Amino acid sequence: MRKTKLRTSGTNLSRTKAHNLRVVIEVIRTQAPISKTEIATITSLSRQTIQYIVAELEAAELVELIDGEIKGRGHPGKKIVLAPTGAFNIGIHVDKLSIRAVVCDLVGDVVWQQSQRLKNWNIDDANRLIKSVFDKFVAEHPSKAKKLVGVGVAAPGPFNETNIRPDDLANFQQVGTSKNIKKLSAEIGLPFIVENDATAGAIGEHLHGEGKPFDTFVFLQFGIGLGAGLILNGNKFAGSSEIAGEVGHIVVEPDGLNCSCGKSGCLERYLSIDALCRDLNLQIDDETLNEKITELIAQRNQALLDWIDEATPRFRQLVNTLEMIVDPEIIIVGGTVPKPFLDLLISRSKPFLKPLNRQRGGEQVRVGTAGDFVVAAGAAAASAESHFAPALTSLIL
Ligand SMILES: [Zn+2]
Repeated sequence: MRKTKLRTSGTNLSRTKAHNLRVVIEVIRTQAPISKTEIATITSLSRQTIQYIVAELEAAELVELIDGEIKGRGHPGKKIVLAPTGAFNIGIHVDKLSIRAVVCDLVGDVVWQQSQRLKNWNIDDANRLIKSVFDKFVAEHPSKAKKLVGVGVAAPGPFNETNIRPDDLANFQQVGTSKNIKKLSAEIGLPFIVENDATAGAIGEHLHGEGKPFDTFVFLQFGIGLGAGLILNGNKFAGSSEIAGEVGHIVVEPDGLNCSCGKSGCLERYLSIDALCRDLNLQIDDETLNEKITELIAQRNQALLDWIDEATPRFRQLVNTLEMIVDPEIIIVGGTVPKPFLDLLISRSKPFLKPLNRQRGGEQVRVGTAGDFVVAAGAAAASAESHFAPALTSLIL
């Protein structure tokens, strides 16, 4: 059911102005270098309006005017590009084991990164670490810090109070509740937005990694739990209550292991770092867990190989389900688990079940390349989008 209505008559001038500003930034972001005349043509706004908006963006140091190419005998016109150092966004990926933070410039490039271990699984320690990472950036880069416009926080969701499961091991929902976000925003003095880790990972891969060439793909976040981030036709898809992609809670084993969601036999009870640690007697909060998993792979440890072989039918089934529902161009797997583990899971799961689209050749599943900071970079991009991208909500009166 639609909760908001877009008015089709009347206008709120200040919001229309803000919307036009975002539209112009988006056109410059995607088409630069571009002239004012070209922007006017694309946006159907008057040349005078474009003149005014570009002057405003230039004064705010968000765009730069550069010399265009000389065509024919005429003078080179000025072209407009985004000024990368005009604004910065912080992205922070919080899970129960660590905090990874990045600062991205206006074109999305990572200019600073930092990771810290979270000693205790509680919200106060997580908040303290978020604040200390922020303070470190401000101390190291005071001039860039003045141009920070917002913070994106990504954590294992869901955060919506009605969907919260208090005893869920994988979930760190306290980070993203509206109460905590308001508190962090007041302490740091910047607007915060929150995104679930799988969706932020999908955005990060779309901007910086394997998702770049694709408009429609699924990103699987293999962490303590298992979640999927969906990019559909170039946009993230969150669902009606922002829990789309909770594939870890698809029941795969009727009357199977109990899950914190209240059901039994959920997929992430069998396919996640939590499941791996439980079955191999590894400690999930061990600081050297990733090194230990990598070592077991290097040794071709039989228990680990057996675990993977038991998991492959479930993984293959998940890939098949996602392909039938979403019709993605690719499924990208990432997460906090070491890359050699994901490589092994994928190679031992082959051949995957065939997609219906028989013209689709090549790989169906690959490991992401945007790295350990992919989720944080996606969170920074989500923050940038909330400030600069044109949104329907900015026109709702
Ligand atoms: Zn469940």
